Amino acid sequence: MTQLRVLVTGGAGFLGSHLCDRLLEAEHQVFCVDNYSSGRKDNIAHLIGATGFEVAEHDVTLPLDLEVDQIFNLACPASPPFYQSDPVQTTKTSVLGAINLLDLARRCGARILQASTSEVYGDPLVHPQSESYRGNVNATGPRACYDEGKRCAEALFFDYHRHYGVDIKVMRIFNTYGPRMLFDDGRVVSNFIHQSLTGRPITVYGDGRQTRSFCYVDDQIDGMLALMGTAAGVTGPVNVGNPHEITILELAEEISALTEQRPDYRYDTIPKDDPARRCPDISAMTDLTGWQPRVPLKTGLARTVEDFRARLSAATDTPPLSLNAG
Ligand code: NAD
Ligand code: UDP
Repeated sequence: MTQLRVLVTGGAGFLGSHLCDRLLEAEHQVFCVDNYSSGRKDNIAHLIGATGFEVAEHDVTLPLDLEVDQIFNLACPASPPFYQSDPVQTTKTSVLGAINLLDLARRCGARILQASTSEVYGDPLVHPQSESYRGNVNATGPRACYDEGKRCAEALFFDYHRHYGVDIKVMRIFNTYGPRMLFDDGRVVSNFIHQSLTGRPITVYGDGRQTRSFCYVDDQIDGMLALMGTAAGVTGPVNVGNPHEITILELAEEISALTEQRPDYRYDTIPKDDPARRCPDISAMTDLTGWQPRVPLKTGLARTVEDFRARLSAATDTPPLSLNAG
């Protein structure tokens, strides 16, 4: 197999660090850049010194110059409390980050993949969500910095493709979980597992009947690599996620059972514009690549609980900023 020079932005984050692992396993040369705003050096500590791995602290709102064959653009905080804590920086990360990386791709002739999101559908009025649905985003609400930033990034990707012939892939990622998520980072899986393992009440927002569909990280990275491997001209956007839809209360029950804790819930106010239902239609991705998620929720949650337990007992995890959620 040809060894490629691959840039991963946001490579010290949850998904980015798993992607770096997989690219190095395939013997590619990996350049990881991150500003460590929501990622952790611990996530990539095991890669320091590995053959083919280089890392630099860099903010994607600033241009960068490298010679690469492929770019995975993952830089952007993904947890609502993180992306809402500095909303202007969130929009800049998506928009200026996309421009800087698309300019780099154009200059190098590199293929570039954008980690877009199911949030482009907002609080969806169509269910499940397929790529043809144009979404229901509140352009002025607290989630807009993320949702509209990602929508603008998609627009930029398609403009660079149409006007400059850049080889793009746009992937709409649905809720993904797994080992290395930050403790208590505001996202539901990490909050619930951390709360449950540390003997605190599980914080259910609203009545807990809102739904999400959770994809295990290994499946998500398989999908990302499969999409990057499709022929030039296959642009997406495509949904990548697990269509197994559950309520937030059902998730809390699953996690309580796995952590062997008596369920103890604290009901809090539902955040503004929190989507009521979310489930991907993945038929486009499956038709294109044959990809399907393989890891059942219970198995993926059990692996994540084990990872949290191990890190809690080693007590190495330090959140990069204090959060008020959860
Ligand atoms: P994460 O917060 O763990 O990782 C994001 C990484 O980007 C972090 O390491 C952070 O420090 C870095 N970063 C943020 N702003 C940056 C900047 N301006 N310059 C350089 N680095 C910067 O989140 P994640 O779950 O790993 O998400 C990765 C990508 O996937 C994000 O773009 C996110 O929007 C997208 N996504 C994730 C999910 C999910 O469920 N995990 C769902 C939809 C989309
Ligand atoms: N949620 C919750 N308790 C928490 C964190 C989140 O009930 O401690 C809910 C949240 O309101 C949302 C769902 O879980 O309905 C998923 O939240 P998350 O932030 O993980 O993802 P997103 O809303 O971006 O899909």
